[in-house]
Amino acid sequence: TRVTNNLEAFWMPFTANRQFKANPRMFVSAKDMHYTTADGRSVLDGTAGLWCCNAGHSRPRIVEAIQHQAAELDYAPAFQMGHPKAFDLASRLVQLTPPGMDHVFFTNSGSEAVDTALKTALAYHRARGEGSRFRLIGRERGYHGVGFGGISVGGIVSNRKMFGTMLTGVDHIRHTHDLSRNAFSRGLPEFGAEYAEDLERVIALHDASTIAAVIIEPVAGSTGVLIPPKGYLERIRAICDKHGILLIFDEVITGFGRLGTPFAADYFGVTPDLMTVAKGITSGVIPMGAMFAKKHIYEAFMQGPEHMIEFFHGYTYSANPVACAAALGTLDVYQEEGLLTRAAELAPYWADAIHSLKGLPHVIDIRNLGLIGAVELEPIQGQPTKRAFTAFLKAYDKGLLIRTTGDIIALSPPLIISKAEIDDLVTTLGDVLKTLD
Ligand code: PMP
Repeated sequence: TRVTNNLEAFWMPFTANRQFKANPRMFVSAKDMHYTTADGRSVLDGTAGLWCCNAGHSRPRIVEAIQHQAAELDYAPAFQMGHPKAFDLASRLVQLTPPGMDHVFFTNSGSEAVDTALKTALAYHRARGEGSRFRLIGRERGYHGVGFGGISVGGIVSNRKMFGTMLTGVDHIRHTHDLSRNAFSRGLPEFGAEYAEDLERVIALHDASTIAAVIIEPVAGSTGVLIPPKGYLERIRAICDKHGILLIFDEVITGFGRLGTPFAADYFGVTPDLMTVAKGITSGVIPMGAMFAKKHIYEAFMQGPEHMIEFFHGYTYSANPVACAAALGTLDVYQEEGLLTRAAELAPYWADAIHSLKGLPHVIDIRNLGLIGAVELEPIQGQPTKRAFTAFLKAYDKGLLIRTTGDIIALSPPLIISKAEIDDLVTTLGDVLKTLD
């Protein structure tokens, strides 16, 4: 096509990142577990796009739902006029969410869902006459998107550096232990409660009654698949409760079946006060996110007769009809094919498969849960991302899409992956690892 033949010209207006510019790659179509590249090669999707295409690619059921909706009602400002699909979707979603998460605010992305959750936490405390609670606590190595709120509470310092001051009144849980390559990232039971005390330490730096919310990814995805030990999230929950602080789970990656349960909250048996989702809500087909709130929180700031305040929310495209149709089609696929629990069935096979890479050159850690995993490589001195990025390029040439963060290879295939495709993924990755300098 014109674009693929003329990448140089294409880059000018398109703000692709540096990695892409250095090594242009182009997907032109996708079906189920595979992409097709501009030069006609098939690439196995080991990352569900960007952790989002949980139902696989271009599923007819979802495509038809979108086509039908676009022809019938393309747009309505959902929070002014309403339309049936917004109501249908909200009802379907709250049947799936953890107990008590009964109210949903629609957004168009994970970043917007995070912003909405942070705003909600502040509004909740103010509605209850506790406006002194303004501080927000994130976590070292947390990733919460690219909005002002998400970058601020996010725990990746390099993402904030070039912007100078972002939100004020933000602090982060600083872990006294490295989070990877140890009991933390392997979900071992021993140290859960102990690691959680890092939250008490950051609270102690402030007056606890000034803290509005703690935001955490139950399993940190983008920073290298960090699986908390048993007891960790329970203790985080207990500490928040003790101090009257709201707990927000950012389930943008873990939501919609990644761990073998609909949400990570179900897997860990810990219910947050607010929960953000995106990605898997439409299986990546159309931008959509959502923020769920427990009933008593919703009622405090949306309905409480004495504290009624105007909660300022509503994007032009919140609950866009076509996005709602895509999400409803996606939920149909998840439910008809049992995809929200499929990761649990495949988890033992997945675990054996990726742990078979142990002992290959430079592999220093392997971790997994449900259908998520990471292979951590020993960094080259002074070039901390080079080895994994080389693996990414070689895997792409061999027909496998992986994702890298630092020297960690992250894997999160669509939930429709077969055992044969898991074998294929691991064999290709193993072949790549064997060739790394
Ligand atoms: N939170 C988490 C945990 C994420 O992984 C991401 C995206 N990778 C986001 C928020 C931001 O989502 P989006 O890119 O849709 O804005």
